[in-house]
Amino acid sequence: MTSPTSDFTFDSKRCELCGAVWLNGKHHWYGGKTTVNSELDLAGLCCNIQPGDVSKCINPQRGEHGGDTWEKRLKVLEDWERDYYGDRTFGSSS
Ligand SMILES: [Zn+2]
Repeated sequence: MTSPTSDFTFDSKRCELCGAVWLNGKHHWYGGKTTVNSELDLAGLCCNIQPGDVSKCINPQRGEHGGDTWEKRLKVLEDWERDYYGDRTFGSSS
């Protein structure tokens, strides 16, 4: 009997802890995007700060630092908001 698997089979893994998805060994963000440092970013954004049992996390970069963090993202958002809205107060309808 030959195996019914084909070249098109998808190796899909999901981190039990943070819900991140790996397709064919490569981490993908929600929406299917993947970036060079996505595992490291994921570690900083998610895996490193999960309160649960970290041994369940399958991110190979878990525990590593140097990726994206919420502090960095907040900074980017604040900069963007300032550029976009200028000195208008966010949410003001006047
Ligand atoms: Zn994880």
